[in-house]
Amino acid sequence: MRNYAKEMAIGFIPVLILFLQIFVGINMIPVLLFAGLIGGALYLVRSRGNLAAVGGERKGKPRPPAPLSFDEIGGQERAKQELIEALDFLVHEERITKFGIRPLKGILLAGPPGTGKTLLAKAAAHYTDSVYVAASGSEFVEMYVGVGASRIRDLFREARQKAAKADKKSAVVFIDEIDVIGGKRDGGQHKEYDQTLNQLLTEMDGIHTSEKPRILLIGATNRKEILDSALLRPGRFDRHITVDLPDKKGRDHILRIHARNKPLQEEVNLEKIAEESFGFSGAQLESVMNESAIYAMREESESISQRHLSMAIDKVMMGERTDREATKEERERVALHELGHAIMAELVRPGSVSQVALLPRGQALGYVRHNPQQDRYLYTRRFLEEQIMVALGGAAAEELFYGDRSTGSRGDFDQAMSIVRSMVESGLTELGITDSSMMTPDKWAIVNSSILDELMSRVKVMLSEQKEVFLRSLEVLKTEETLSGDRFRSLLGIDVTAGDPDGESKPA
Ligand code: ATP
Repeated sequence: MRNYAKEMAIGFIPVLILFLQIFVGINMIPVLLFAGLIGGALYLVRSRGNLAAVGGERKGKPRPPAPLSFDEIGGQERAKQELIEALDFLVHEERITKFGIRPLKGILLAGPPGTGKTLLAKAAAHYTDSVYVAASGSEFVEMYVGVGASRIRDLFREARQKAAKADKKSAVVFIDEIDVIGGKRDGGQHKEYDQTLNQLLTEMDGIHTSEKPRILLIGATNRKEILDSALLRPGRFDRHITVDLPDKKGRDHILRIHARNKPLQEEVNLEKIAEESFGFSGAQLESVMNESAIYAMREESESISQRHLSMAIDKVMMGERTDREATKEERERVALHELGHAIMAELVRPGSVSQVALLPRGQALGYVRHNPQQDRYLYTRRFLEEQIMVALGGAAAEELFYGDRSTGSRGDFDQAMSIVRSMVESGLTELGITDSSMMTPDKWAIVNSSILDELMSRVKVMLSEQKEVFLRSLEVLKTEETLSGDRFRSLLGIDVTAGDPDGESKPA
């Protein structure tokens, strides 16, 4: 709930003044004059501060943002190319005037957090030789009607002033989290939001080709679907660029960029790290490089090793190691559970385990890190079933050794059920092509259990043939706490050197 103390104080103070003046007979005029003076001075100081904050400057000391070029942004080749094409309209202005093309006013960058949208906006400013002014949507959220709108005006004014001062022909105004002010107007929101958005639309409509300096608005969001259609129509944000999570090549590129200022050991294989960090954003990859350097420094090593990088991936993926002390029995159960996942993973996809760990991290007491081998965007029924089998491997292993399960399988079952849902929704089950929203909970329960029960029986049969591997690996895992993928495969009896040309190992 919002804190309304400020509003209550504003209402209470005039009542108190009137009361003292009329009923108590105290002359309040000198007090009011003095308060007026102090208020005026404070207002001046604050409005200057606001303008400076909007422009991203510190009081008294303007700090120009370091110019950033597209070369310093890893992956995102398609996004960079689309953006450069759009920016060329601004760079080659005479050409667009000749063809009578209307000016590009806004570019919308949409994609998950940490994928480099801010970096792209900064590089756009550098590429077009513009000044760069940035703000975040949340800075415009205020209780008072009109404040957000006036901040939008300040932001554009600031951009024009900065460009004039720096003698530049154009300015890039970047608004991050634009969905905060540009969300769909359904009549339900506060009037203030409407006014802020209207002001933004007015500013965009006021951008003309002949205007000097030219303004280019770049907005960023990770929730494009909630943006108001007035913002998305042609003539406003009429270029939409998707900034996706990087693929393996992109991850490798980003890692190399952030490794530039770090001492790496010769044996370090960044391509392998890129392979193991499937689904990571640019910001997470930057964090991997940074954490690996911290691990190296903590160990007083001269340089960063592959092990430091691997530890950093675990940290970014699972969180910091915790001090949770598990009992001996719990540790053993967790180890068998994780080995269940790992053995199942190697049986259905040889070479896919990258690490098995018996260490508390985040909420988990142990974990298996899988190596996806290659980025995938389409999944077959067989692939998804194998995925479910890996998820069920932990619970199956507990049943095999203890005859019962524990609460440690809860997350695995959630994962398995969400895969079943996506199989049903993609028409990959016996139900054929169906609309899942029309299925009753009973029908869901039947479909879920028929798929999961059948796969669970297959998993139990496959794992019961590996009891010896379980026991062998359990002893090593209990003492060493982590097992690398290769070490684990050697315990499993898989010849790690006999990989096929794709780098996948085969069971011996
Ligand atoms: P948000 O949506 O959360 O605002 P964003 O998409 O704007 O995130 P950035 O602020 O551009 O993400 O990225 C954060 C940090 O992550 C950057 O400062 C940089 O260190 C790193 N980073 C992200 N993407 C890339 C990339 N493609 N290349 C190099 N570094 C990247």
